[in-house]
Amino acid sequence: MLKISKTLLTWYEQNKRPLPWRETNNPYSIWISEIILQQTRVNQGINYYYRFIKHFPDIYALANAPVEEVLKIWQGLGYYSRARNMHCAAHQIINNFEGKFPARFQDLLKLKGVGEYTAAAIASIAFHIPEPALDGNVYRVLSRLFGIAESPQKAKGKKIFKQKAFALIQNQPPGIFNQALMEFGALQCMPKNPDCHQCVLQNYCFAFQNKLVTELPVKKTKINQRLRYITFLYIQYQNKIFIEQRKKNDI
Ligand code: SF4
Repeated sequence: MLKISKTLLTWYEQNKRPLPWRETNNPYSIWISEIILQQTRVNQGINYYYRFIKHFPDIYALANAPVEEVLKIWQGLGYYSRARNMHCAAHQIINNFEGKFPARFQDLLKLKGVGEYTAAAIASIAFHIPEPALDGNVYRVLSRLFGIAESPQKAKGKKIFKQKAFALIQNQPPGIFNQALMEFGALQCMPKNPDCHQCVLQNYCFAFQNKLVTELPVKKTKINQRLRYITFLYIQYQNKIFIEQRKKNDI
């Protein structure tokens, strides 16, 4: 385990992308970047990150702004519930944590829109807590590295992935280690055609050693899609178009 962790950290130092949120330990900035990157590619997210931080430089600026203003800055990123949740979480931090970003993993989980992955990312990067951040990239790397065929969506699989990740992060700088593992998944151990022959972990990798790289991770079972039929009105009068603001759970 120790050799894998050290190799990963060395790889990260040599290959990491220079991203603005890697220049800071400020939990607020890290939170913003993590929420933006939940459904958005890194390249697209960078400009939104700068824009958001410029408009709302701290938790008070965000909480004191009307939610419409937050949504306006978010415009174009999609998945607007992320912006609404952040606005709500900013109020939670002011009301329940005296305006200070909570430093404990369990407290971070209480914030609206913050799940286990985001809480672990903030806890490890901003507060040096050894909590593994497991996103899709990390699940893929661990599945191949250790030959884990279980699904991380199921309790049994999740436990196995967590155990491996905890073993790897032990005695390492947690924030840097989590970022290294995620970056390795994004740049090296990619979903399709990972460059195994140039990989620093090939000697330790179960999937590579057993010719199972294309088999792992095991594909997700397909979700049954439901067709929905929707009637809508497009109302135009002279040069004006009628727009109605979306309400909760509306389309
Ligand atoms: Fe991923 Fe291939 Fe490296 Fe294994 S050898 S960790 S599958 S890139």
